Amino acid sequence: MKIMVSACLVGENCKYSGGNNLDTRVSRLETENTLIKICPEVLGGLPIPRIPVEIRDGIATTKDGRNVDAEFRAGAQKCLEIAKQEQPDLVILQPRSPSCGVRHHYDGTFSGTLVDGPGITAQLLMENGFKVIEPDDLGSFE
Ligand code: SF4
Repeated sequence: MKIMVSACLVGENCKYSGGNNLDTRVSRLETENTLIKICPEVLGGLPIPRIPVEIRDGIATTKDGRNVDAEFRAGAQKCLEIAKQEQPDLVILQPRSPSCGVRHHYDGTFSGTLVDGPGITAQLLMENGFKVIEPDDLGSFE
């Protein structure tokens, strides 16, 4: 299978903190599948490390109040272009991220409060018909 993944899930140090979210349930898939690694925030031109971002009133906003929605949406669009080109069978994204979260993201108050709904890239990929899951959903694909 061809699987698009959040790059941080397979150990790339592209998180806002400069670290990663390595999940061996995802990284081990590389032995039998082709992984396409994407980080929408870096593709959108944001640096590593970077100030944390949450979605506040529909706008990607840094913890110090800067509007980075254009960068987030540019990164999402680049991921969509890659997906259209590569046609992955499955997309596995990092939970709770304002870009990659599938079921939830933080509410914009930087208080650790989750709200229902996908991040910006996850939403765009789903709207375009791609099958997008989180690592916890992998059991149903094995
Ligand atoms: S944007 Fe997605 S891939 Fe990039 S660090 Fe955040 S969760 Fe990981």
